[in-house]
Amino acid sequence: MYVPFFRPDLGTEEIESVVRVLKSGWLTTGPTTTQFEKDFAAYIGGDVQAVAVNSATAALHLGLEALGIGPGDEVIVPTLTFTATAEVVRYLDADPIFVDVDPVTLNLSLADVERAITGKTRAIIPVHFGGQACDIAGLHNLAKRHGIKIMDDAAHALPSDTAQGRVGNTGFDVTAFSFYANKTITTGEGGMLVSSNPDIIARAKTMRLHGINRDVFNRFTDLKASWRYDVVDPGYKYNMTDMAAALGVVQLTKADAYATARRRLAETYSAALADLPVLLPHQPQAADNHCWHLYVLRLTDDAPIDRDTLITKLRDAGIGCSVHYMPLHKMTYWRDRYDLKSQHFPMANQIFDSCLSLPLFPTMSEAEQFYVIDQLRELLEK
Ligand SMILES: *Cc1c(COP(=O)(O)O)cnc(C)c1O
Repeated sequence: MYVPFFRPDLGTEEIESVVRVLKSGWLTTGPTTTQFEKDFAAYIGGDVQAVAVNSATAALHLGLEALGIGPGDEVIVPTLTFTATAEVVRYLDADPIFVDVDPVTLNLSLADVERAITGKTRAIIPVHFGGQACDIAGLHNLAKRHGIKIMDDAAHALPSDTAQGRVGNTGFDVTAFSFYANKTITTGEGGMLVSSNPDIIARAKTMRLHGINRDVFNRFTDLKASWRYDVVDPGYKYNMTDMAAALGVVQLTKADAYATARRRLAETYSAALADLPVLLPHQPQAADNHCWHLYVLRLTDDAPIDRDTLITKLRDAGIGCSVHYMPLHKMTYWRDRYDLKSQHFPMANQIFDSCLSLPLFPTMSEAEQFYVIDQLRELLEK
């Protein structure tokens, strides 16, 4: 048997949706992208607006840019994340300040954030690790007390619901979602910036396409000729194509069903693996709806084999696992650029040494999951 780490679920609806765009003659950003943005904003709820881009990395970059982050500013990020969370800070010549994570939720530690705040701190980028929402109220409190902005990296968190609202509509300044191939919904490559601040939305829309602004021009003239535009800044090339949006509009209609399927798979894993020498992932609070983008297991000290050996043996048995993440403070660029010392991140180190992410995707069959469970039990039972 072969069980991949992830398998996208694309059916005839997605294929027909893309074919419609191909036959329409309009390939790049157009009516389907606008539709996807409208549908997405409605799905997130509240008064948010959405700006479709070609990756979450682009959304994160545009979000920080719209918040006015620039040279010399400090932006706090967790060390246990994908490098994109921190790299966008460098795009703007600002400096990411890395903090350790909470050993229970794997989300950034608010106590560590508090300690990391200086006079130069302008923003925090919390990551909702694996779909487990961060402490929204705690972050709001911290941001208000210190006068700093929050842009959440919600690459794992569609849909994650909390007592303070759905991620993307919890009152943070701006939120970035990912539609990368193995995220909870996919457009192949793609992302979405979401905000309820019209200024941030307007700035992101301008900067995602070369700094072109038609509105500025139209405001001062009666001429609304479609060839007229103004350039107000050196923007970027981050727009989403209608082909990608065609996947997005269909995938979004399945987001709830996908989350339900992943939640059920996560419950099955937790029930079947509880007696092994492992730490199960944190169970969300009653009010939270965790979307289980990742199911991260941690081996305890009494496990009969180490994590690397376990992953190799699972791979030999045809099972694809992954590790989220090798912390950024261990990566050459970040370590050397900021002279990061491993001992300052004890929790992330401990998690990294012992964690593995199990296969988890909505179309995973019962037989596939039982096979993974059987193999894990065989390798971890003493
Ligand atoms: C996937 C991911 C990103 C980047 O998403 P892209 O759409 O590939 O740019 C950013 N942050 C986290 C935490 C991710 O997992």
